[in-house]
Amino acid sequence: MDNFDMDDEDKGSKKGKGGGKAIKEFDCPGCEANNPTDDPIVDGSEVRCNYCGNEYQVKVNENGRLKFKEV
Ligand SMILES: [Zn+2]
Repeated sequence: MDNFDMDDEDKGSKKGKGGGKAIKEFDCPGCEANNPTDDPIVDGSEVRCNYCGNEYQVKVNENGRLKFKEV
């Protein structure tokens, strides 16, 4: 009984692509500085620019784009 068992499933090569990507930086709308954040930015987050000190409330739209509102 010749049994060729060629079984190469490539498991473990899942490339984590697709939704739910955490946003952990933002560009300040005031001074355009790029600020990394400790916590992922979600809709309603408040962020503070390390450069100019302005604070913004963030809205994330359905495209994953950030909108800033000064607070
Ligand atoms: Zn700024």
